[in-house]
Amino acid sequence: MKEILGAYSRDQKLADPHVHTNKSRDAYLAPEQIVEITVASELLHTIAITDHDKVSPSIEAFEYAQRHGYSLEVVSGSEISTLDGHLLALYIEYDIPSHQSVEQTIKEIHKQDGLAIAVHPFFKRIRSLNQQRILDVIKNDDPEIYLDGFEIFNAGVNSYPKTTAIKEAGEFYLQHKGFLGAPIGSSDNHYFTPGRGLTAYKKDLKESIKSRETAVLMLEDHESAQIRHHAINLFPKEINPLVAKLEKYRELRNKRE
Ligand SMILES: [Zn+2]
Ligand SMILES: [Zn+2]
Repeated sequence: MKEILGAYSRDQKLADPHVHTNKSRDAYLAPEQIVEITVASELLHTIAITDHDKVSPSIEAFEYAQRHGYSLEVVSGSEISTLDGHLLALYIEYDIPSHQSVEQTIKEIHKQDGLAIAVHPFFKRIRSLNQQRILDVIKNDDPEIYLDGFEIFNAGVNSYPKTTAIKEAGEFYLQHKGFLGAPIGSSDNHYFTPGRGLTAYKKDLKESIKSRETAVLMLEDHESAQIRHHAINLFPKEINPLVAKLEKYRELRNKRE
């Protein structure tokens, strides 16, 4: 594992707080398959299922893990399409309407005692919060409008070879530390490798984010390959065609860059 921000020690736990399932139009595996791959990989203590604009897949994954007696903690959540770009909501119970301002969306997340996290900030290929809108949130006087976390590593964004968004997010975070909440790393997995981006924490993920005691890590290629290996072993019929699809997609995209 490679440290992106903060130090990782063995007494910390690992979470991937931003993972999609096939309940998002742009992702492929069912909630229970993501749980099975995560359990088999023995890397994560916690995973948040965060499909676009709906909480129900995360509840499904949670119930599945409970039924099977897995110690994996499954956090409820959703990635909300605000008018200003995507915003991650963790620990919410009910759907929050899409296409509202980022401020209104944050308010509604906090009303449910959830956490609001800026994801893939500044990344122009996906609808993302820009610097101005994030500064607007920081400066807002309403006590319910603030960010609990800021994603400074997103493995999906990182797979684009020429983007500067991750570097910019890291620099911006250090510049405005104290106003952006906890540093967050995630996979933003849409395929079969949850855990490629990680948030390390102590004891409880929610409390660690609130007290900003998190570290951000990423997996080395050979570690991601191990997860992929577990995934293919478990679900060869679904995943082998996906491997081919992903390779083709990457090839096309890298040619375009
Ligand atoms: Zn997104
Ligand atoms: Zn996402």
